[in-house]
Parts: sequence; C-alpha cells; structure tokens
Amino acid sequence: MGIQGLRGPYKKRKPRPDEGVAIPCTYCGMPASSEDHIVPVSILAMIDGLTQEVRAEILGQLPPLIKVYSCNQCNSVLGNRFFRTLSDRRVAVKSYLKRKYARLLEMPAWDEEELSELGYGLQKFVRNRIRLKNEIEERLRWRR
Ligand SMILES: [Zn+2]
Repeated sequence: MGIQGLRGPYKKRKPRPDEGVAIPCTYCGMPASSEDHIVPVSILAMIDGLTQEVRAEILGQLPPLIKVYSCNQCNSVLGNRFFRTLSDRRVAVKSYLKRKYARLLEMPAWDEEELSELGYGLQKFVRNRIRLKNEIEERLRWRR
C-alpha cells in the first residue's frame, strides 16, 4: 500500500451495499441495496442545451453530495419526484407505505394460543403476515 492508500483513523470509508455489510436505507432503515439521487437525474435532462458531456460532468460532481443509500422499494417509490429536503422524501416514502400496507397495519394482534388453534398452512400464513406487519411498523418508526 502506497502513501496514497493510507487513511487516518477518522477517515474510515463508508462500506458499500455490495460489500455484505448491511447499511440502512436512509428512508426506512431496511438494508440498502441501491443509491437514491436526491436530485433526480431526470431533472438534468429537463435543462435545455446541456450536452451529454456537460451532463456527465455535472453528474460526476454530485455523488458525495446528493446520493444516499436506499432500499430498492424506497428508491422506486421516490422515482423521479423532486422534494426540497431529505425529510420530505422520508415523509413521502412513509405515506406510501401507510397507503400500500393499510389493511395489513389494521390486522389485529394474535397471541400464541390463537395461533396454535390454526391449521399448519393458515398458521404459517398468519405468522408471515405478522412478520411483515412488524417490519412495516419498524420502517414507519425509522428516524421520524
Ligand atoms: Zn427504504
């Protein structure tokens, strides 16, 4: 390792999602699997008169400032929409999750005794629903 490869103790590099370390999604806390452009790339396409080269140059300067880790679902929910703050993006993701999983979130609580009275297939189904409901609730609580 040359001099350039040395890093100070406080300059720990952020691990990337593909290195097997679970980095939480900025919006919901699930393991991140992609990067979300806070300013959508498509907005650049709306600016008239930018050549391919200029666009690429602008994009090249953006990563440290306006890309955050996110899970695929949050990334696709936000898509090309533009929000003024990161917090507004998080609010948009959460209102989407609340709408999409409205019925699941209303599911009543089950106790072990009730679950044990169900047949194997139904019990498995309900346990999966409970697990998913807990996961959605956890995502909704993430950095409120
Ligand atoms: Zn997410």
